[in-house]
Amino acid sequence: MGLDEDALEYHSQDPPGKIEIATTKPTNTQRDLSLAYSPGVAAPCEEIAADAEAAFRYTAKGNLVGVVSDGTAVLGLGDIGPEASKPVMEGKGVLFKRFADIDVFDIELDTDEDVDVMVNAISAMEPTFGGVNLEDIGAPECFEVERRLRETMDIPVFHDDQHGTAIISGAALVNAADLAGKDIADLDIVFSGAGASAIATAEFYVSLGAKRENITMCDSSGIITADRADHEKLNEFKSAFARDVPEGDLADAMDGADVFVGLSVGGIVSEAMVRSMAEDPIIFAMANPDPEIDYETAKHARDDTVIMATGRSDYPNQVNNVLGFPFIFRGALDVRATEINEAMKVAAAEALADLARKDVPDAVVKAYGDQPLQFGPEYIIPKPLDPRVLFEVTPAVAEAAMESGAARTELEHDTYVEELEA
Ligand code: NAP
Ligand code: MG
Repeated sequence: MGLDEDALEYHSQDPPGKIEIATTKPTNTQRDLSLAYSPGVAAPCEEIAADAEAAFRYTAKGNLVGVVSDGTAVLGLGDIGPEASKPVMEGKGVLFKRFADIDVFDIELDTDEDVDVMVNAISAMEPTFGGVNLEDIGAPECFEVERRLRETMDIPVFHDDQHGTAIISGAALVNAADLAGKDIADLDIVFSGAGASAIATAEFYVSLGAKRENITMCDSSGIITADRADHEKLNEFKSAFARDVPEGDLADAMDGADVFVGLSVGGIVSEAMVRSMAEDPIIFAMANPDPEIDYETAKHARDDTVIMATGRSDYPNQVNNVLGFPFIFRGALDVRATEINEAMKVAAAEALADLARKDVPDAVVKAYGDQPLQFGPEYIIPKPLDPRVLFEVTPAVAEAAMESGAARTELEHDTYVEELEA
């Protein structure tokens, strides 16, 4: 059977779907039930009515994330609607549970792409959750939805399609720049794509030390220039990267660049374009399922070192969001963070970058086909199934939340790591 048939069979086995609710307290006796529900349940209700923070003590809120989508930008499938997005949102719940033991309610909203309706619906759910993971919401609406929710809500709101990609590829950038012997502040960086993931990734690279004026962004019409920003109705997020350079296409932009970041469509970068880049170029071709240029072609285009990452699992350096969101939310929830701020994202990226420099345990090497995994051009970010990611990224995020004032509770680092390992 092919993968599609297998997937349909997998999803349709009884019970349909991939998740269910499980109870965590005894429910056997009449007394258990009168504690779980009326009349006993009134006592925690009153505690929470007197102090909302008590919800973290008496309910599942503190370990519960809402995975929310309007179904407008689902995987590579596009605008397939909220109902059709449900398998993906349930799947996100599976990953949260499997990697960080976080429970998820998947919420698919029929909002007719109305930003006000979506913002109102999600912010009204704040009492339910410890955090909200926005998922597969199209650009540019996703930027405004997230910004407004972050302003109004007192729990973390994180659009994974934007920031997950930014953080994981940011970790890769830190290590790639180091291997190429270049300073991030000096990198000439070209983006192909100016959508949800590209805009957020470019902004995040600035947080990591890249210079905004060294970033050139291309969309489907070529380089986003200041002149174009003056004449065309560009959204404010694209305009923030408009450059005062002549009009041109992606090939013009890539000439002499240190870094290519592809978050657009497959197959649009040629060997000649790779050859036109600066010495020891860094190429993150992350369009899925087919990268902007394939791994072998890019690697063989030149004699110096090409440091390459893609979104694919069958090549080195897979930029996989599962390296980020479970652990970022775990750290944020464990200190009852009010947000996932820039400092927490940078801490996550730096923890991932550091981890890639450490010796890889045999079990991880075995899980990835016994290929040697050692810090270098073919290994700049940890592998998605490396269990150490939990122990490195999670405490780093919690620590950054405490230092930046986003945490509502304090944790002691070593004790926390021991708890995570238990
Ligand atoms: P998006 O919001 O739809 O943005 C796509 C962008 O690509 C748009 O700005 C679009 O230009 C641009 N584009 C389309 N054709 C182009 C061309 N021929 N040359 C240059 N730019 C072109 O999509 P997204 O969510 O950011 O995702 C973009 C891609 O990145 C997808 O393939 C996705 O699978 C991949 N991705 C990978 C990872 C990962 O590997 N971890 C994570 C996130 C996304 P206009 O603005 O002019 O329409
Ligand atoms: Mg997604």
